[in-house]
Amino acid sequence: WSAETVAVVTGGNRGIGFEISKQLAAHGVTVILTSRDHSVGLEAAKVFQEGGLNVFCHQLDVLDTASITEFCDWLKENYGGLDILINNAAVNFNQGSDNTVEYASQVITTNYYGTKNMIQAIIPLMKPSAAGARIVNVSSRLGRINGKRNKIDDVILREKFSNLDTVTEELIDQTVSSFLQQVQDGTWESGGWPKTFTDYSVSKLAVNTYTRLVAKMLSDRPEGQKIYINCYCPGWVKTAMTGYAGNISAEEGADTAVWLALLPDLAITGKFFAERREISF
Ligand code: NDP
Repeated sequence: WSAETVAVVTGGNRGIGFEISKQLAAHGVTVILTSRDHSVGLEAAKVFQEGGLNVFCHQLDVLDTASITEFCDWLKENYGGLDILINNAAVNFNQGSDNTVEYASQVITTNYYGTKNMIQAIIPLMKPSAAGARIVNVSSRLGRINGKRNKIDDVILREKFSNLDTVTEELIDQTVSSFLQQVQDGTWESGGWPKTFTDYSVSKLAVNTYTRLVAKMLSDRPEGQKIYINCYCPGWVKTAMTGYAGNISAEEGADTAVWLALLPDLAITGKFFAERREISF
């Protein structure tokens, strides 16, 4: 990897995204740290620049189409594209198991649709390379189909999500939108979701499933133009999102993302990781 390698990190101004930016840059990669609040992002990038790292900031709100378009145009013009995309930006408002109508839509929209917006906009800008371009989606074990605490109750839905042959973009979109409707109506539990399945879990289930789907859609790209897309769970991390609870630092939480982004012979796509190991969806 060299300064010619360009990585884009969403939500890079703090938490795990900030640490991913730092670690990628420490490997010699040029990092575009993006932040929805430009002044906050500039401050974060300044810290790295003062440490001699190639980190530059650009404004990017993953929910704002104009912001995404402006960012992609800027990226193309100044860097000719990118090699690595880290979809890290996300929100989470519930610390417990309650779905709140007020926030559910924001959580699904940011975590799932924000990630999807970025993937769709960025794929045409990914540079050809022998090692393969990389997309890493920062996800969560809470989005597992058969999670210990939050297995999807609806058997048919569980089957559909388990089998990649039955997964479509429409299935994911319809599932999140009917979940939001059920949250609104207060019927999400009878709608096939267990009590502990929060909006955040549904958003990450959608991210994980979309990761597998995109991997499948990209799988026939020729050698030299491969794009590997995977997702990972950083663990329970001490960041603003958890109210600084958690059992590992943001630095540790960033590790698997950087590993997936830089591993020379990755050649793995559409998989879910934690602590540098593949885990089940
Ligand atoms: P933080 O809340 O510290 O950081 C979230 C980042 O996302 C912030 O930079 C925030 O920007 C940004 N963001 C939110 N909405 C948008 C948007 N619309 N456009 C652009 N950026 C946005 O959380 P973490 O660092 O903990 O989380 C990073 C990732 O790790 C997330 O995907 C999260 O779901 C995942 N994760 C975290 C876990 C944990 O224990 N912390 C566990 C499992 C997964 P701003 O500063 O402007 O709000």
